[in-house]
Amino acid sequence: EAALATAAAASPVMAQFFEAKARQPDALVFFRMGDFYELFFEDAQKAAAALGITLTARGQHGGAPIPMAGVPVHAAEAYLAKLIRAGFKVAVCEQMEDPAEAKKRGSKAVVRRDIVRVVTPGTLTEDGLLDARGANRLAAVAVRAGQAAVASVEISTGEVECLATGRDGLASALAALGPSEILVPDRLFSDETVSAALKAGGGFVQPLPSALAEPAASEARLKRLYGVETLDGFGQLSGAEVAALGLIAAHLETTQAGRMPALTAPRRAGEADVMAIDPATRASLEIEKSLSGARDGSLLGAVDRTVTAAGARLLAARLARPLLDPAAIDARLDAIAWLCEHRPLRQRLRERLKGLGDMARALSRLALGRGGPRDLGCLRDGLIAGEAAVALFAADPDALNPPPAELASALAALDPARAPELAQLKALLEAGLGEELPTLARDGGFVAPGVRPELDQARALRDDSRKVVAALEAQLAAESGVSLRIRHNAVLGYFVEASAKAAEPLMKPPLNATFIHRQTLANQVRFTTVELAELDARIAQAAERALAIELETFEAWREAACAVAAQVQAAAEGFARLDVAAGLAEWAEDVGATRPVVDRSTAFEAQAARHPVVEAAVRRAGEAFTPNDCRLDGTGAGGPRLAIVTGPNMAGKSTFLRQNAILAVLAQAGCFVPAAKLRLGVVDRLFSRVGAGDDLARGRSTFMLEMVETAAILTQATPRSLVILDEIGRGTATYDGLAIAWACAEALHETNRCRALFATHYHELAVLDGRLAHVANLSLKAKEWNGDLIFLHEAGPGPADRSYGVQVAKLAGVPAPVVARARQVLERLEREAGAPAHLEDLPLFAAAVPAEERTGPSLVEETLAGLDVDGMSPREALEALYRLKGLL
Ligand code: ADP
Repeated sequence: EAALATAAAASPVMAQFFEAKARQPDALVFFRMGDFYELFFEDAQKAAAALGITLTARGQHGGAPIPMAGVPVHAAEAYLAKLIRAGFKVAVCEQMEDPAEAKKRGSKAVVRRDIVRVVTPGTLTEDGLLDARGANRLAAVAVRAGQAAVASVEISTGEVECLATGRDGLASALAALGPSEILVPDRLFSDETVSAALKAGGGFVQPLPSALAEPAASEARLKRLYGVETLDGFGQLSGAEVAALGLIAAHLETTQAGRMPALTAPRRAGEADVMAIDPATRASLEIEKSLSGARDGSLLGAVDRTVTAAGARLLAARLARPLLDPAAIDARLDAIAWLCEHRPLRQRLRERLKGLGDMARALSRLALGRGGPRDLGCLRDGLIAGEAAVALFAADPDALNPPPAELASALAALDPARAPELAQLKALLEAGLGEELPTLARDGGFVAPGVRPELDQARALRDDSRKVVAALEAQLAAESGVSLRIRHNAVLGYFVEASAKAAEPLMKPPLNATFIHRQTLANQVRFTTVELAELDARIAQAAERALAIELETFEAWREAACAVAAQVQAAAEGFARLDVAAGLAEWAEDVGATRPVVDRSTAFEAQAARHPVVEAAVRRAGEAFTPNDCRLDGTGAGGPRLAIVTGPNMAGKSTFLRQNAILAVLAQAGCFVPAAKLRLGVVDRLFSRVGAGDDLARGRSTFMLEMVETAAILTQATPRSLVILDEIGRGTATYDGLAIAWACAEALHETNRCRALFATHYHELAVLDGRLAHVANLSLKAKEWNGDLIFLHEAGPGPADRSYGVQVAKLAGVPAPVVARARQVLERLEREAGAPAHLEDLPLFAAAVPAEERTGPSLVEETLAGLDVDGMSPREALEALYRLKGLL
């Protein structure tokens, strides 16, 4: 309500503040005043609490002191980071002119100020605020005519993507992007599917007025963003895609205050292009981050050997979205295979890539007007490195086995010799930029000598005059006989300084005719002379002129770089692709990974495969990882469709399950796989329900969550999908759980018909082997030796003989008397209960499925057929009729 106070009642500066605040009411306003960004009223209170800075007061407004807090400009970035992380938006209101300029308009004139930027989690560009190896995406969600779309932009690099999907695909699409900010039309905000998807995506949700997603408005904004007359060049964009991209354009217009990043044309993907991995599966397989949220311990962390930040980001994006097209996958695999064969070249390439800066991010900062000479330096060094990389390949020609298309096209993109625009930019920056580059252009000194004659002149004048100053010091000291020095500061410019004692003669005739008193300090006295004042003015003027020329030059170079933004972005991506391929080849060599065969079959045939993350952990503990085979086939021809996996706790069931899912992710992302051999029919959707991570935060019990995820699998898995299910039904009473597990296994086999690994501790499920056509039992072996349990971690055919729960309890350190007692109880139970429930007597799955989902005879028909009408009494016949009616 403070912000609503009328500007009329405020001082001129506060009026400016109110105006800024009114334009960004839900952001904290960083109001530039000299060397500080000040915050006022509630903003000050919030920031003081979030940052732990002092809350003070300034002047009065409406009779009360104005709460104020401030952060120094030079340290603003760190405070900004903290506020963004705490969930605030920050509007930066800068001084738009030199205070000296304002003074010229009158002594009471106020410095002009304006909002130059609104900082939100998805719009960061500063290296200090970004994770170099992680993406920072801004996403937008839109739904139109039943179709949905997710658009995203990485402002720090300018990459734009767009994915058309159904509403049900929103969660997977958002989870694959992992955006830090999601824009959503406020009307969709209350839609249940959408809000669940937003939760799955994570990140800061920013509702925008739905009107911004209207067709005409979003199309116009999108054209403005790209500066095009028609959107046809982007292919046939759906209404939802245009709306989502339009929301992004709207958000950029407000947050970037007119400055627009250099954006790539939207790269489009459909659901037919990428493997669908729902958020729960993504989390449980620990693809990009481990369950604790760290990159370490994730699949990405294990396979990442890239040496550049952009390479690391590209690899993460590829693992997040494995492909479906075998040809596209093969193109990536070709590159890795080639770099495996050309080891020395690969190593030289990696050496060369190591020193590379982040070109895409540097370019984006330049485009947004936040870049400096170092960003230009980064582009220059990148273009030089591009030439060197091309030379590396040329120096090692292999006529019989030239680099495959994926490498050749990456090289073409970064080769200045093939892109004249890049060659020009490279020549410009190579000749123009000096060696030592400041972060900020206004610090000057970055234009090399010999580039601009006027600059050299101004600098010579400035530097010569500095030499004259040095000579003048010697001369004045000699003439006056006083020990004095000439010094410089920002307030006085050049001045003569002597100690209070030595200065005495300077203030008396005749010397006081030459030495004009300026300032007396505790121990020093400061003077000037006519000659020194003249020199000072000359030096200041020359320095000012030199800086002005440098700034003008910087602007010209900045524009030159932005004019070829698309080529620079392509070059940056070329480097990233080389880095990813070389890094994956390096990893393949390190861990003995091999090239998978990916085709359109429904085969899954892994030989001697390993789990890359668990293997690394097991090795660190000084032990060996046991490789395992796994065969599945959707048709049942090359292996079972469904494998029931049993084995004691700790035998390695979850590891086995996950390792096979991870093989599919790696292979389809275009990576080699840690297996002696893998043949994989493309997996369209991957589902994993492994381990029971409690989700108390979302207020669901473990069992409820397990069932929700299981429901998603049973409704969505197709004959091309791969499903891994671990311990379904564990969270409820034994018979309930067994019943659910049994029914799920049958449904996967009969209805979904997908490839599935089904781990369970209900050994009763082993009988499914004989009852369903394409089921087989697998077990992870353990053996007892001298009363101890030894895990072999070996997957073999057949069910586990027993569960060894008591032995595992013993291993876990349960006290010996308790273990002994448990053995007694177990023996007793086994003796008295005899055979467990007679599940073999259950009717077949088909008979239990509702009629509309079956093809064979209905339950009513079957029951009817089974009636012995001749042998029935009238009363029994009546009962049978009632029974039949009950089946309808
Ligand atoms: P389960 O799911 O059967 O309880 P896990 O898959 O969690 O068992 O495995 C338990 C532990 O056994 C793992 O943390 C790992 O240390 C070890 N382990 C699992 N599989 C293997 C393997 N193939 N080779 C070596 N050690 C393994």
